Amino acid sequence: MTCSYEEFAARADAVRARIASACAQAGRDPAGVELLAVTKTHPIEAAAYAARYGLRGVGENRVQEGVAKRAETPDLPLRWELIGHLQSNKARAAAAGFDRIQSVDREKLLAALDRAAAEEGRPLAILLQVNAGHDPAKFGADPAEAPRLLDLALACPHLRVDGLMTIAPLGQTPAETLDLAIRTFQALRELRDTLASRTSRPLTELSMGMTGDLEPAVAAGSTQVRVGTALYGTR
Ligand SMILES: *Cc1c(COP(=O)(O)O)cnc(C)c1O
Repeated sequence: MTCSYEEFAARADAVRARIASACAQAGRDPAGVELLAVTKTHPIEAAAYAARYGLRGVGENRVQEGVAKRAETPDLPLRWELIGHLQSNKARAAAAGFDRIQSVDREKLLAALDRAAAEEGRPLAILLQVNAGHDPAKFGADPAEAPRLLDLALACPHLRVDGLMTIAPLGQTPAETLDLAIRTFQALRELRDTLASRTSRPLTELSMGMTGDLEPAVAAGSTQVRVGTALYGTR
């Protein structure tokens, strides 16, 4: 990443304008959509820029990389969220180094994170990652498995389930990609509504939408878009 803070701020303004315009079309308040800056593969300046701009959180997809950056910049007022696949044997490092884990998609990982949070002596916030687009190339629980996974998560005393996360599949053409995104995000929203009424938990967070598909995500009710490329350039 070679951009200056001023360039970054202009890009962040543009992303916020996209969010605001999608909110206006959907009749939503832009304050209900958080911009999470995805800093993976970028140097620590990326996180410093995000904090200086006033963003509250950054997303990393690898435990070691996120933990190392956080250690180098301990004073930044940022929440660090893990958005990438997590192996159970790294659960302890993830629970110690991140404020929230968005990629929880199986029972074994739930158990490992619950134990790790108990050892940390603090509750750990999580999202359940659901493969709402049924993409064989993506991690995430099968939507049919989500009710059982949620019940197990709610029974973990040291975990706090904030909501759901998904990544939409890529299509062969831009039109197909958009169509898949619309259907995936709508499916996650409907799944959340069903699970929330079944468990009487709000499950307020819907983490969905990235650089290429934040508009359909906001239209479907996203509360957090995870954006890397539009803020920092290509990786
Ligand atoms: C990399 C990544 C993003 C950001 O993607 P961009 O297209 O660069 O905005 C969002 N979510 C997850 C899970 C990612 O791994």
